Amino acid sequence: MAAPPEAPMPGAHLPQVRLDLAGFITGWNAAASACFGHSETEALGQHLLLLCQPDDGDFAELAPWPAERGPLQGTVLRRTKNGQTVKLRLTLQRETDADGDTCGLCAVYEPLDTEISAQDRLRLYVSIIENSSQGVLVTDAQGRIVTVNAAFSRITGYPASEALGQTPDLLRAGRDGTDFHAQVQAAMHGPGLWLGEVLGRRKSGEVFPLSACISTVRDEDGAVTHAFCIFSDITSHHDTETRLQKLANFDTVTGLPNRLLLGQLLAQALSQAKRGKGLGAVLVVQLQRLSWIYDTLGHEVGDDLLAQAAHRLQKALREQDILARLGHDKLAIALPNMRRREHAGLVAHKVLALLRPAYVLHGLEVDCPVSVGIALYPDNGMDTAQLLRCAELANQRVDDHDTPIRFFSAEMNERATERFRIEGELRHALAHGQLQLYHQPKVSLRTGRIVGAEALLRWTHPTRGLLHPGQFVPVAEDSGLILELGDWVLHEACRQLRDWHTRGLDMPPLAVNLSARQFDKYLPKRIDALLATHDLAPHRLKLEITESLMVRSADEVVPIMNELAAMGLGIALDDFGTGYSSLAYLKKFPITTLKIDRSFVIGIPQQSDDCAIARAIVTMGQQMRQEIVAEGVETREQMAFLRALGCDQLQGYLFSPPVPADSYERLVREDIRLPLD
Ligand code: C2E
Ligand code: MG
Ligand code: MG
Repeated sequence: MAAPPEAPMPGAHLPQVRLDLAGFITGWNAAASACFGHSETEALGQHLLLLCQPDDGDFAELAPWPAERGPLQGTVLRRTKNGQTVKLRLTLQRETDADGDTCGLCAVYEPLDTEISAQDRLRLYVSIIENSSQGVLVTDAQGRIVTVNAAFSRITGYPASEALGQTPDLLRAGRDGTDFHAQVQAAMHGPGLWLGEVLGRRKSGEVFPLSACISTVRDEDGAVTHAFCIFSDITSHHDTETRLQKLANFDTVTGLPNRLLLGQLLAQALSQAKRGKGLGAVLVVQLQRLSWIYDTLGHEVGDDLLAQAAHRLQKALREQDILARLGHDKLAIALPNMRRREHAGLVAHKVLALLRPAYVLHGLEVDCPVSVGIALYPDNGMDTAQLLRCAELANQRVDDHDTPIRFFSAEMNERATERFRIEGELRHALAHGQLQLYHQPKVSLRTGRIVGAEALLRWTHPTRGLLHPGQFVPVAEDSGLILELGDWVLHEACRQLRDWHTRGLDMPPLAVNLSARQFDKYLPKRIDALLATHDLAPHRLKLEITESLMVRSADEVVPIMNELAAMGLGIALDDFGTGYSSLAYLKKFPITTLKIDRSFVIGIPQQSDDCAIARAIVTMGQQMRQEIVAEGVETREQMAFLRALGCDQLQGYLFSPPVPADSYERLVREDIRLPLD
């Protein structure tokens, strides 16, 4: 057996492992079994690798060391049978045979005591918490704060003395559901650990984002004794993130979304449009002299112009429209949810008008003409890149000599040109007396006599002859010109009524058509003033409105109608049956007359559906004590059927088309009647 080593070996109670020179285990004591978990039988004959970490080349036990040196000592990490790593102090002795030659090694391992006393541990924890850069807050089971650390006070501004005894509501940012207290409560009553970001409020009132870990401490019975929150202030994080996001998605000169973000926003709008079969447009707006301005007046001036242009547009567009910087001298506007294709042209004109006035740049007055290219969806495509390409192509095709607005499709260009021509001409017509009111009599189905008339607008166009409202009223509606036109009609109807009255003619009431756009809170006052000016009794005038007005909120429309009704004006619901008004909704309105739309009258008496609708309208009107007028009656069969139903009046070519005032006057004067049998 080996001679005793020069240095005393540690005690036999320590794990001892004997190894041959190749590293195979030749001896294993009970303490080694206790320490490493392998029994003696399992260990003997195995290589030292048994105790080493995988891939661990650190065989301190087998390292060569000079014979003359005493025992080798050091710290090693070894692996136990159950995979744990233990830290050990190794003392390695040589074992020699009778000749004094080294024949083996004896490794004695001394487990390093990593245990610390409970008291030391407590002291350690307190010091760690106190010196942590993260804020710590601990509440009792009732949610009252029992301790906070220094970082808590530094971050929140509350010294411990002010925090203790309070609830985490102290840091409440006032936004439901995402605040501190709510999360602490949730952690207490819910699954426990919660990690996330919440908003807190400092003592100064400043709201700040914090990243928090909230959890609970439970006793042996599982009851919550405390809740704690460890948090850090991530304001700077957030700032950086916001800044980075801004840089990636927004143009620095104008502050507008850049091409990247435009793409995302447009893609979103397109996917919504796909679901709802929506209509939209993409406009590319090119600031034509911008490159020249950059080159000659410098970057600062160019940037300033661009920023001012963006600002002008931003103020005028609707909230749902998307304005973006597309490139060097181009802006883009996406218009989701358009009602009509022509509206894109209207916006383009608005853009021109907004960008036309000169810019004042560093003391210089600079003009910057623009051109606009328009692509429509779904017509020209349903993907972002395609639509932008079409709008850019349309923009390139803008011809300097005409309006600098181009649609991608030729047909839309024609329609737009036509539309703007009509608008211009209509303005001219208003100012130059080309408009006229025709009158279409309404006759009683009881007496066959004329009991009223509807005033219908006509335009005597210098080259195209007599135009009907269908050819110009939609343009007037879109352009807002309908307000002037409507005022003209009201004025003209009153003038005509006054004229008849002055001439001693007893003419029945006259109805005028009102656009929904005219229907605002000033309307009763305007009509009142007109009646006063022309010295007319209110019952001489009737108003025809359509169901399109009913889609507006009843709260907005009903008071105006009540005011008009209280003044003594009759209100007729025109084109009844073509809109969407629910019967319950209808009851709220002080309507005196229902006009059955011509589209139902056409099918009478052959089409059973139309007959049924007409019958239902008459029945309903009778119950609501409304007068019922059938529009567009052209045949005697229609008349007979409607009369049998109990319809009160008819209006239609059967008796008379709309005619100029003097012709209508003659019909009344001569008491021309509709033969009823
Ligand atoms: P509306 O108020 O429903 O007017 C009735 C329309 O039916 C008139 O067309 C009239 O000429 C036409 N009509 C009448 N009887 C017959 C018939 O027996 N057969 C056929 N085929 N048609 C008949 P008009 O004058 O072209 O007016 C069309 C629409 O334009 C009107 O429909 C009204 O909504 C609107 N409108 C007319 N004048 C004005 C106005 O001064 N202001 C506003 N805002 N809209 C107006
Ligand atoms: Mg009408
Ligand atoms: Mg009608």
